[in-house]
Amino acid sequence: MIKIEHLVKNYGSNCAVDDISFSVESGEIVGFLGPNGAGKSTTMNILTGYLSGTSGKVSIDGIDILADPLGAKKLIGYLPEQPPLYLDMTVDEYLNFNYDLKGCKLPRLEHIAEVCEVVKIGDVRKRVIRNLSKGYKQRVGIAQALIGNPKVIIFDEPTIGLDPKQIIEIRNLIRTLGKGHTVILSTHILQEVQAVCDRIVIINKGKIVADELTENISRAVENNRRFNVKICGPSREVLSTLKSMSGIVYAEALAERDGEAYTYMIESDYGVDVRKKLFYTMAEKGWAIIGLEALGMSLEDIFITVVDKSAEEKIRQSKPARRRSGTKDALEKQVAETMVREGAEKRALADTQEIEDED
Ligand code: ADP
Repeated sequence: MIKIEHLVKNYGSNCAVDDISFSVESGEIVGFLGPNGAGKSTTMNILTGYLSGTSGKVSIDGIDILADPLGAKKLIGYLPEQPPLYLDMTVDEYLNFNYDLKGCKLPRLEHIAEVCEVVKIGDVRKRVIRNLSKGYKQRVGIAQALIGNPKVIIFDEPTIGLDPKQIIEIRNLIRTLGKGHTVILSTHILQEVQAVCDRIVIINKGKIVADELTENISRAVENNRRFNVKICGPSREVLSTLKSMSGIVYAEALAERDGEAYTYMIESDYGVDVRKKLFYTMAEKGWAIIGLEALGMSLEDIFITVVDKSAEEKIRQSKPARRRSGTKDALEKQVAETMVREGAEKRALADTQEIEDED
């Protein structure tokens, strides 16, 4: 349905989108995820025909956006980060205006009523948009995108600035829309794509660093690093034993008690499966493990890991001579240093995102 091939966008000497390719099949909800400045909005603007790329090709349902912009745009409903609302109009006036603007041929009254019902704004149709809450304004923005019943809907940061209840409502709405449309959702909020999308494309510094089904992405990178483990035994000693085990990089006692058992959250080192060792160590002490639950990776971990992996890959590709000469240790040291440096940057970024999410 949507095909992006070798898309490049330069702003002067700044390369905002650096040779990206991906496609979105009919009926998919794809999350386009990346930190601020990664190139998401630039890509969305090219997809929707607002900007042209420096090179590469974008087509919607086989129609090239450059060769036939009108034909391609007819297939797209777009909700930009700032919904294009005319605040002095009533909701009805605004939707009718959009209906005319798009040259919509569907039966006017029925179609607008249907759109209002889908986005649940039937009760505010006579109200002036300026006086609506931010959540309702966002719904009116989505209604505008749905006029003409486009096959593809593109959302750019659709929940930014909404309160938690509104965020849940808009996410549910996007999921419902995904049943009848192809949806691309651009966001910097990791939980958003996890909650809504079938597939996740991660962009960083203009390049795609991951493209995976949401359910697979945890498995695609390293898994089984974090567990909740329920152990019968003296909690302080159990905790200090867990902390002293090689392969475990973090352990904490959770405030959960089940008879004589306490629950601990443990995190193992990358690439280490600590489960067997955990069993034998606890058995030796006479402490029974009565529960073990894999927590998987948060998308935050995944993002950091894939971005770090791309850094690792880049260094490996840029240093073939050193690799051939067998200086494996030096290379690995360099990779580790880069990953630590970039990882620190990404963690700082993830912290900022958490703060933004809580707002
Ligand atoms: P995102 O939406 O992921 O935050 P953008 O696509 O807005 O990222 O930006 C990608 C890069 O392109 C950034 O480095 C940004 O500063 C730059 N950029 C975006 N728009 C312009 C513009 N109109 N002129 C010059 N640089 C731009």
